[in-house]
Amino acid sequence: MIIDCHGHYTTAPRQHEGWRREQIEAHAAGKAPPPRPAITDGEIRETIAGGQLKLQRERGTDLTIFSPRAAGMGHHLGDATTSEAWARACNELIHRVCSLFPKNFVGVAMLPQSPRVSPKNCLPEIDRVVNEYGFVGINLNPDPSGGHWQDPPLSDRYWYPIYEKMAEYDIPAMIHVSAACNPAYHTTGSHYLNGDTVGFNQLMTSSVFKDFPTIKFIIPHGGGAVPYHWGRFRGLAQDAGLGLLSDLVLNNIFFDTCVYHLPGQELLAKVIPADNILFASEMIGAVRGIDPETGHHYDDTKRYIDQLPLSAEDKAKIFEGNARRVYGRLSGTIAKQSATAA
Ligand SMILES: [Zn+2]
Repeated sequence: MIIDCHGHYTTAPRQHEGWRREQIEAHAAGKAPPPRPAITDGEIRETIAGGQLKLQRERGTDLTIFSPRAAGMGHHLGDATTSEAWARACNELIHRVCSLFPKNFVGVAMLPQSPRVSPKNCLPEIDRVVNEYGFVGINLNPDPSGGHWQDPPLSDRYWYPIYEKMAEYDIPAMIHVSAACNPAYHTTGSHYLNGDTVGFNQLMTSSVFKDFPTIKFIIPHGGGAVPYHWGRFRGLAQDAGLGLLSDLVLNNIFFDTCVYHLPGQELLAKVIPADNILFASEMIGAVRGIDPETGHHYDDTKRYIDQLPLSAEDKAKIFEGNARRVYGRLSGTIAKQSATAA
């Protein structure tokens, strides 16, 4: 089985994000939000069948670990109440996709985060998506302010309620920022890659993995700048007296393969052990075009991994085994959803 651990519902029916705009406008005007729009199963089927499912089939992948559109999380907008209603609506829609296509999609949640609001307020939603929907992970935004970095670093006990839940349920978190409202950043360029790099650096210098030895994080987008600068991070750990970087992080931190050219994938696979790499494409996502140098979509990342000089055993880990290990509930959810499909 080929498991893509990083996909978002970027093609959701238009009225879904339309409601979000109305919700934020209503909040700004001090009014109650309008009722949620009706979205039919037929509309959901159409957006998936012609989009992500079609690309799964064309590219030869089987299952996508699927979450709400990351740039759409918009944690910097509204307040904790609007974030809660929006997260519930987005997660419900993911659940409906997984119910309609149980063999092709397994859910991961966005959280109802807000800048400077304790992430404790996310715990009921984590309980709900795991227990009611069978979701297998969460996307954790290290910067709910959207590019102004107003919250404590991931090393801070501020985040520990989330880590306790991750340990309790055996669910990993993908470190994933949302849209940037700071014009210095490009959302899916510098802001995303910066979020990945910052999150890694905060965790590697922390005692989070001493306090929570079993929890796991996925650093998306190939780990931001981390694999390319592995030597710098190794040296920083050494100079700080922290010991070997590999000992510090490799039981708990994993990197996905959302790197959109072969040389980048070669570097990732050379620097990071195969046990710590999870296949992902983030389709349909940030980069939708065709690379004129190859004639293929930039985000058709399976092609790059197929070309890497790795053993069949290592490729099996990257395509399937590591995802089943890192997402501790994944195999159970796959079995359950396959049974409903049958
Ligand atoms: Zn993403």
